[in-house]
Amino acid sequence: MNYCNYCPGYCCYRLDGSVLLIDADDINRLARHFSISDGEVRKRFMENRYTLKVEDDGSCIFQARNRMIKRCTIHAVRPMQCRRFPYSDACPYLEREDLLATIQPRVEKSLQNHWLKKSQSESA
Ligand code: SF4
Ligand code: SF4
Repeated sequence: MNYCNYCPGYCCYRLDGSVLLIDADDINRLARHFSISDGEVRKRFMENRYTLKVEDDGSCIFQARNRMIKRCTIHAVRPMQCRRFPYSDACPYLEREDLLATIQPRVEKSLQNHWLKKSQSESA
């Protein structure tokens, strides 16, 4: 079974000490996807030379805010590290209570914020 299809993307939240490393091929794939230059990808989406920006809650900027599963909005062109994780191992986020305890509240808060903003805009 591919658990990723049923997961809110725990691995798409940055943990202390972890980093999503982006290389030149990843940048070029994103550039072609968005029909912009590599330099524009760096300017819009990257925090520094090596990694993508994240939201305040540590989630990747390419996560969809309005769904519970399949939340990567650039799935077809996602970075190589995202494609390979968790490599040939079992997913550590589903195996380790300490990781889930750190990440689960962030996932829930992110979704709550989305639905709260949505209901506020609909009642305004
Ligand atoms: S690798 Fe693990 S945490 Fe990431 S989407 Fe798949 S099951 Fe979820
Ligand atoms: S690019 Fe997609 S799969 Fe990779 S961290 Fe961001 S949302 Fe997750």
